[in-house]
Amino acid sequence: MLKSALEQAEQEDKSTLYDLVAFVSHRGAGVEFGHYVAYCYNSVDGNWYEYDDACVSKVDEADVLSREAYVLFYQKRSTDASENFKARVLELSAIMNETNSEAFYISAEWLYRFRTFSEPGPITNSDFLCEHFGQAPLLQPNQVFPIPSKIWSLLFEQYGGGPPCDRLMPCNTCNNRVLDIISRKTREKKAFNLLGKRLRYVTVLPPNVIAYSWYEQWDCFVTHFDRAAPGPIRNDALLQKQRDGSMRLRSGINYKSITREQWTYLHSIYGGGPEVLLTYDKQPCAEEIHSIVQRFEEQLAAVERKAKEPIVELPSSDNEEEDSKLIKEEEDSRIEEQETKSCSSMILIPDLKHEKSSEDVTIAVNANTE
Ligand SMILES: [Zn+2]
Repeated sequence: MLKSALEQAEQEDKSTLYDLVAFVSHRGAGVEFGHYVAYCYNSVDGNWYEYDDACVSKVDEADVLSREAYVLFYQKRSTDASENFKARVLELSAIMNETNSEAFYISAEWLYRFRTFSEPGPITNSDFLCEHFGQAPLLQPNQVFPIPSKIWSLLFEQYGGGPPCDRLMPCNTCNNRVLDIISRKTREKKAFNLLGKRLRYVTVLPPNVIAYSWYEQWDCFVTHFDRAAPGPIRNDALLQKQRDGSMRLRSGINYKSITREQWTYLHSIYGGGPEVLLTYDKQPCAEEIHSIVQRFEEQLAAVERKAKEPIVELPSSDNEEEDSKLIKEEEDSRIEEQETKSCSSMILIPDLKHEKSSEDVTIAVNANTE
């Protein structure tokens, strides 16, 4: 490859030239100390500029040459042939733009490379086309540029690449995929916020915590369209193993306090773990949490059955939808009502593993009203 390039250069009897366009300079005694500044050449006004953090100032070329360079950036100089070709294309496009209605579409990013690089490389219309050769979803008007067909032929013949595109067609497959992603993000965010108001287990368990780094990734995912979903929840760093083998919440670590309902919801989608509770006492294991929850549910059911005895029985909530589906507002108010009942009924249930101090409850309530 290298040999053939050299041979070609010899054949053309031309040496490749590079121009220095920028360099990084270091000020200070050692590599561990000091300050970096950059010097860049502006080809539009022919001046050198110094970039010192937010401060940009014009500098004399002689001054620039006296500086010590740390990293240098060179730009390959265009050959006469390629410059002539570019000039011909630009000239032609200026003439044809108004008269020629038959248009091809070309990547605006590639056009930028064509105008500024010595070798723009093959045309990259995949910048604005999807894998089905339709218009990429959420295409911005400035990402694609119409050009006369004659100009397209010239460029395509010279640089290759593609694919040729003479009309922009929306792609249903890709558009639906994007709509699915958007609705998933909206659904997750809404459900998470809604579940933040649930305090069903507040009397038997401290709130859950989730590693802040993971939560941030998830929050970015649901807030921004172009962010990918996070992987499984990673709560391992929240725990510290004690000498006796037990696990405790590590102090000074960043976490987000969430309700158990929020935890269950996120865990049902993303998996991972482990479940960590907001307590500096020994962390209960998954089985312990499970049995506390189960016992609580059983006691709650018993209390509810008793309370409902003289009244006409309500239809059981036989909702087939998974937990991960968006919780309906109306159902929400019904459960909140139940929760109010359950909180007061809890006073009657003495035999629960977790004895809650009033401080714990305050944390829980605060965490859930954030
Ligand atoms: Zn597509």
